[in-house]
Amino acid sequence: MFFLVTHDLYIYLFHRLQHANKILWRTHEAHHSGKEVDFLAGSRSHIVEIIINQTIEFAPIIILGANPMVIPIKALLDAMFGMFIHANIDVKLGKLKYFLNSPELHLWHHANYHEVFHANFSTKFSLWDHLFGTAYDPGHKPGGKRENWGLYYEYPKDYFLQHAFSVKRFDEQKLLRYRWFSWYYNLRPRMVGWLSSKWKLFQKLNPVTEKLEYKTSDNLPREPIELKSIQEDYILYDK
Ligand SMILES: [Zn+2]
Ligand SMILES: [Zn+2]
Repeated sequence: MFFLVTHDLYIYLFHRLQHANKILWRTHEAHHSGKEVDFLAGSRSHIVEIIINQTIEFAPIIILGANPMVIPIKALLDAMFGMFIHANIDVKLGKLKYFLNSPELHLWHHANYHEVFHANFSTKFSLWDHLFGTAYDPGHKPGGKRENWGLYYEYPKDYFLQHAFSVKRFDEQKLLRYRWFSWYYNLRPRMVGWLSSKWKLFQKLNPVTEKLEYKTSDNLPREPIELKSIQEDYILYDK
């Protein structure tokens, strides 16, 4: 219980800092990049974010000499709660929502609305958001369209490019001029396409395989796609 509460308070504060600090945001934006949020969204993280948070989570348990059983119990609770707060299920906790976190609150944290860029930072105990005045709970859902979710700017889809993007900003479309990049960028869609041609099962799993081939240097738009600024481009939520 001690580690559950202290770590949850730490993660609230660090998460809040990640949203307020430009450098730390680079380690957290990956978590917000999904345009569809479901129970798996919690496992989408930047590698640096994982290293920092897992070290701060588990090192004190070892250093303070707690029973080793605390580690798997805590890891299990974390995994379960991570899946629960990101799940796209209709669940209402009633009055308990002021103490325990739920999809009701955390899904708003993943929504692309100006009001929630600095709200609902809690992981397990929503108590922190209510205590520190960062809770946002309008009583309805963020919306069903892709633009209602995730980041307000273009973000790479590839795992390794996402990590590169956190170090240096670039425009994927511009880089497609380079043959080696275009080859690498289209490798995954090509593989999925090849698998779908061999097995029907993959076609069902990836119904949009034909659309996965990205633009090459021949049909590149002349002007680079510009990243939009946060102030100009926020979506007003529909009451
Ligand atoms: Zn966040
Ligand atoms: Zn999340």
